[in-house]
Amino acid sequence: MLELGEEGVREKIKTIGLFNAKAKNVIALSRILIEQHGGEVPASREALQTLPGVGRKTASVVMNEAFGEPTIAVDTHVFRVANRTGLAPGKTPDAVEKKLEAIVPERWKKGAHHWLILHGRYTCLARKPRCWSCVIADICPFRPKTPDPEEEARLAAEAKASGRRLAPPKPAGTTKAAPARAASKRAAAKKPGRSR
Ligand code: SF4
Repeated sequence: MLELGEEGVREKIKTIGLFNAKAKNVIALSRILIEQHGGEVPASREALQTLPGVGRKTASVVMNEAFGEPTIAVDTHVFRVANRTGLAPGKTPDAVEKKLEAIVPERWKKGAHHWLILHGRYTCLARKPRCWSCVIADICPFRPKTPDPEEEARLAAEAKASGRRLAPPKPAGTTKAAPARAASKRAAAKKPGRSR
């Protein structure tokens, strides 16, 4: 990494956000790893957090991914999902992390961070959560649920064709059939062999 140099690292990561600062930190922490840790990544949170650019979240990710520790890093996705679902509400990432670590059963702690990120990245999106396709819509207290856009478009087209005024769409997760649909999606997701 040091041979690549800051400019070389910058060139390779220029498509990601804050690449200038990240390139600088990667070079600085690489130098410290060689000079102070024998070229190894330290396995303690305290040592990790002394490295340039490494805060609590990054240290938690490294502890979890590289050393198999049951840490739950709270990024923007995990923070949002934990608050929206009521799973671990908190005003700060640290508060959410503490609650998640207290309530997530030991056997799920290794994967919890990833599962929550994936749920936030692909389903519980920041601006418009995809409640209509969410497998936990029936137990999530977030309101109003986002309705299915295809269903909305179909109803609008029907209303237009018949000259009727469009009734407000029923939010997903609030109809009688929604809990059953969501439960059936969860059951399908649990089937052996199904990947995340
Ligand atoms: S129902 Fe909607 S708000 Fe609740 S977790 Fe699912 S996508 Fe997020």
